[in-house]
Amino acid sequence: MSRKSITELEKQRSSAYVDLGVIDFMKWLSCMENDKDSPDNPFIIKEIVQDKYTIFYDKEILKDVVIVFKNCIPWCNQCETDDCVHVGFAVCLKQYCIRNGPMDI
Ligand SMILES: [Zn+2]
Repeated sequence: MSRKSITELEKQRSSAYVDLGVIDFMKWLSCMENDKDSPDNPFIIKEIVQDKYTIFYDKEILKDVVIVFKNCIPWCNQCETDDCVHVGFAVCLKQYCIRNGPMDI
């Protein structure tokens, strides 16, 4: 494979940070099913307003994180980017709510 095609592939790949958010979502989901207060639970959801914003507490940085959806595009107010763990998590959460209906938090 040429160097150029590798670079192209890298570009197409989703961000590593967003991937980490997906992993955190899996962790969070399993904690919600088993033990909400588990220390393994990476985030505490505070508020979900579908298609507007999601607020959750990040246990790693010890801060509330606000993800705002503008025209369905997520933006992290904490990291000031659309490419972080929080965005990855919020997108998974949003899709989960669309599939399963609003959740009891
Ligand atoms: Zn963030």
